[in-house]
Amino acid sequence: MFENENVVSIMRDLYVKTPQALEALLAELRRVGYEIKDLRKDEFRADRGVPVSEMEEKGWSLWYASLPDIRHGKCKSCGSVISVAGVRFHGHKCEICGEVTYYDLVDGSTMKFVFLNNRERNFLSPKLKMRVKRWDVEQEDIYFYYEFLEGGLSVVTGNQATAYLNENKRLWQVIEEDGQKLLKVRYSLYWDRDTAAIEAYDSYGHYWNHSIVKIWDGKEYGELDHLPIPESMNIFETWHWSPLQATPYLHERILSAAGQVSDKGYYYQDGRSFFMASEWKEMAKFVRHFTVLNGDRFDDAWPKFRSSGPGGIDDLAHFCHGNPVVENRPNIGNILVAASKLIEGKPLTESEITEAVRGVESEEGVDLIRGFLGKKR
Ligand SMILES: [Zn+2]
Repeated sequence: MFENENVVSIMRDLYVKTPQALEALLAELRRVGYEIKDLRKDEFRADRGVPVSEMEEKGWSLWYASLPDIRHGKCKSCGSVISVAGVRFHGHKCEICGEVTYYDLVDGSTMKFVFLNNRERNFLSPKLKMRVKRWDVEQEDIYFYYEFLEGGLSVVTGNQATAYLNENKRLWQVIEEDGQKLLKVRYSLYWDRDTAAIEAYDSYGHYWNHSIVKIWDGKEYGELDHLPIPESMNIFETWHWSPLQATPYLHERILSAAGQVSDKGYYYQDGRSFFMASEWKEMAKFVRHFTVLNGDRFDDAWPKFRSSGPGGIDDLAHFCHGNPVVENRPNIGNILVAASKLIEGKPLTESEITEAVRGVESEEGVDLIRGFLGKKR
């Protein structure tokens, strides 16, 4: 779609080789119905004081094309296509038939929450999981069945739950209704940390009476379906910077064009497969069209590259340059992966141990462990 000898599509973005091809492409995109933003005039970029010449030389995207207003709601009661605005808000009504499109909490929904008591919390602080009886949005109260549900590591039940309630006495009431014991707590539709009694972590059992659809060219698509053309894309002007020279950092540009992180520390360290053929093929297009490297040689080479994150990056980097500089930053994610494997009794590879240790020694790692222990810096 939209490709020709001067327009190359990589990861659904378009790379344009000449000003004439760009002019023709933008006209074509507008004709199809795209809205086009000139990123040279983008406020976010202007605020950061990046000169246009730098955007051009560094190969930033200079245009952004998107299909406007393709998302809509669809009411399940009357089948009408309705506005998407507010359609997923508790108690919202269909503008055609007046039926409610969504309730966040109904009888039987469960909610995991904490009391807002100005005490410092971490992710292991106690939480309650309870089943909702009803939510009175007018009075701004929520009623839970007086029963503490299991819900994972930090969710308290039994005596611990009762103790947690007693610590937060001023934030709830127990009432009786039709012989049933209910916990009543202030809870507003318009939640505000400064005045709220509780903060919800998650909730399940919503009432859905709508779906989200995409409508393009008179046809309806599901919320997650792909349209026949991209919903949005970046457009690059390659004549400012292409062809890229074979530098020790060239692999970073190639990876980023394929939407991949070039830091080896980011990836799993146990050798598991990460890069797929589809991603190497996108990178191959970039190599062929926008670098001084030989595209045919790259097509022969990539099927032999390792598919793990760190291995694939090393192989690519060495294809690009005899002495590449490959980023490998400590990553706190590696501590968590190693820790969870140890807890499950699984063996760790040598590089997982090395990376986890580097993660522990990094500043973020130290913060993470302090968090575990509930200590401030
Ligand atoms: Zn309706």
